[in-house]
Amino acid sequence: MAQSLDPAIRGALEERLCFYRDLGLGDFYRRPVDPALMAKLAAAAEAQEIPATPILASEAGELSAAPIQGAPSFPHSLAERVREHTTSQEGQPIPPRKPFPAPPPVTPAPPLPAGDRAAALQFIRDEIGDCTRCPLHAGRHKLVFGDGSPNARLMFVGEGPGADEDAQGLPFVGKAGQLLNNMINAMGLKREEVYIANVVKCRPPGNRVPEQDEGAQCTPFLFRQIDVVRPQVLVALGATAATWLLGVRQPLAGLRGRVHAVRGTQLIVTYHPAYLLRDPRQKKEAWADLQIAMRELGLKPPARA
Ligand code: URA
Repeated sequence: MAQSLDPAIRGALEERLCFYRDLGLGDFYRRPVDPALMAKLAAAAEAQEIPATPILASEAGELSAAPIQGAPSFPHSLAERVREHTTSQEGQPIPPRKPFPAPPPVTPAPPLPAGDRAAALQFIRDEIGDCTRCPLHAGRHKLVFGDGSPNARLMFVGEGPGADEDAQGLPFVGKAGQLLNNMINAMGLKREEVYIANVVKCRPPGNRVPEQDEGAQCTPFLFRQIDVVRPQVLVALGATAATWLLGVRQPLAGLRGRVHAVRGTQLIVTYHPAYLLRDPRQKKEAWADLQIAMRELGLKPPARA
């Protein structure tokens, strides 16, 4: 029977998961847990000091292949326990996580003439049409294609529309958007001078991270937008954007602070503005990232009034 969580605990849990997500740590899956198995493991761990945490399948092979002399005998083998952890309550194996698709290596085509870019973006928008390619369309009010100058030298990529964006059909128009506007202004630019898009164009329910299949359907359009705008600098806002643009799933900490090469542009990775709203202490770090972008663009911050 499903148990409901205390609202305070649920709130704290949600906060913590958001925090991990912003740091690029994930994914956390809710999988059916067999309470009898958990009780058994906990009891066994207590009695025989077996680690109570789930064990990786790769460890199982190694450890069970090389029994340790004098090791305590466990109630059942490590491999069996791993099998139990990778088998659902219905006895069906839990499918392995799908491999993350790396974006195809791109030999950049020559940039489009500046005067053709708006039409090229509109062509992509028309091709997307009234999209039903992934399940996100079901909850969508407005598809959020992108916004800004087709000739921008700087492009930002976020994760996916939130409630405000879904209502208006424009990226980053809510609270996180206000902060992004401030960040853009601090760089000495106006919002209209940059281009902004997201990994997915329809709002994920409850603002959850886009699923692999959703991103896989939507990012080809994002890549085409990038290829049309061909910004000199691309800024990935948060771990989801960084993951899809780079084709690697890594904590943000390992990706920040340097320039990556992506689709003929220079990619800088920084925190998502929504994360900065939750933890404003990290704004200094984000500003350091934006300064890398400014250096690449040859921009100086505007003099303070
Ligand atoms: N967060 C995003 O990642 N994108 C938006 O457009 C708005 C909020």
